[in-house]
Amino acid sequence: MNQKKSNEFYQISSQYFPGGVNSPVRAFKSVDGTPLFIKKGKGAYITDVDGNKFIDFCASWGPLILGHNNPKIRKSVVSASKNGLSFGAPTVQENELAALIINNNKYIEKIRFVSSGTEAVMSAVRLARGYTKREKIIKFEGCYHGHVDHLLVKAGSGLVTFGSSSSAGIPEAFVKETLVLPLNNKDAVEQAFKKYNDEIACIIVEPIPANNGLLLQEKEYLQFLKDTANKYGALIIFDEVISGFRVAFDGAAGYYDIQPDIITYGKIMGGGMPVGCYGSSAKIMSSIAPDGDVYQAGTLSGNPVAMSAGKAALSVLSQPGFYKNQEERTLNFVNKLKLHINEKKYKIHIATVGSIFWMVYGDKETLIQSPNQIHKDAGIYFKAIFRKLLNKGVYLGPSGYEVGFVSSAHSHKLLDKAANKIMSALDEVHQEIGLT
Ligand code: PMP
Repeated sequence: MNQKKSNEFYQISSQYFPGGVNSPVRAFKSVDGTPLFIKKGKGAYITDVDGNKFIDFCASWGPLILGHNNPKIRKSVVSASKNGLSFGAPTVQENELAALIINNNKYIEKIRFVSSGTEAVMSAVRLARGYTKREKIIKFEGCYHGHVDHLLVKAGSGLVTFGSSSSAGIPEAFVKETLVLPLNNKDAVEQAFKKYNDEIACIIVEPIPANNGLLLQEKEYLQFLKDTANKYGALIIFDEVISGFRVAFDGAAGYYDIQPDIITYGKIMGGGMPVGCYGSSAKIMSSIAPDGDVYQAGTLSGNPVAMSAGKAALSVLSQPGFYKNQEERTLNFVNKLKLHINEKKYKIHIATVGSIFWMVYGDKETLIQSPNQIHKDAGIYFKAIFRKLLNKGVYLGPSGYEVGFVSSAHSHKLLDKAANKIMSALDEVHQEIGLT
């Protein structure tokens, strides 16, 4: 694969940005390479500056459930921008997107728009603390909640990719307020509440943990988290920045039918523009300024162009059958891969939910529900598979701990094509380093 121009741009970007990038996992460090500079995207494909074309399963890390450069979203952005880009005053677009979200989601009554998933989570935790007047929070090993100070402990995503599960630069005093527990372990939760009882403001969890691989949890466990938090007067936050609008319009809350106290969204809800939000009951949301004493604000929050993009995207997603169709195509694709893996007796595990999938080296039968179940050599195999796939025209997020996303632009035919490429990549990796 010719990567000449990308390499040249990377030389330049390295002079400007740490690691040459503006978000760590883009750097290709864990796959021993340098990043591709992307020129354009259309449907399920992206094309880099050297003209290499890839079937893309990274989807801008999740937002692009309708594929790249969706004409409806693009039109809405162009049309909204004709009236100006930002006013710092209310616009009708905010009402329209809010109506679409709230009218199709029985788990939230009021929301507040922000500009990223990190901001949504940071504000949601502040709300939980302000509402309960408590300070400690519970998070789980392997769950990533953005780069919020007190949540960058034993987190997934870029942190796990680079082998250090916590960030420097975070005061010890902050971390003391964060209780980090293992996933899928009820005892740990019971014990934490017994010990700290009325000091715990909330549990925050990715109900579908998708930042340390795909660590699918049981519905019953998630319900237990909710019931236990509430029993002790704490709240439960579902961080649905990935799962929201991905596994169902009403996210994992709807998928499992569990009522969280606060939900955070991001990614998909902005249609590719920087948007996030947090939502809850009208009662809990009344704690937010200017109604209440929990302060949270944003110069570009509810940006009209971003709101229009979100509305264009969500109006497609709210159509009957959208999610069923997504899930069917994804399952078909995953089953095709599994058939091959079984036939060849490869040690490859694939987890899937909705239109998310994750392929990892390891025992294919065991359900992986916590980070310590991931095979220690998973990274070595991912690197080999990733490289082969890049050469064959398939782009995955450049980390073995990141999941793949199927968009509505990934037709059956295209997924078959991708599956064939993946199977041949696996065969080659098997020949070179062995997969059985
Ligand atoms: N929460 C979860 C579950 C996420 O996956 C992410 C980002 N991958 C975030 C929060 C942070 O979102 P953002 O990158 O938009 O700040």
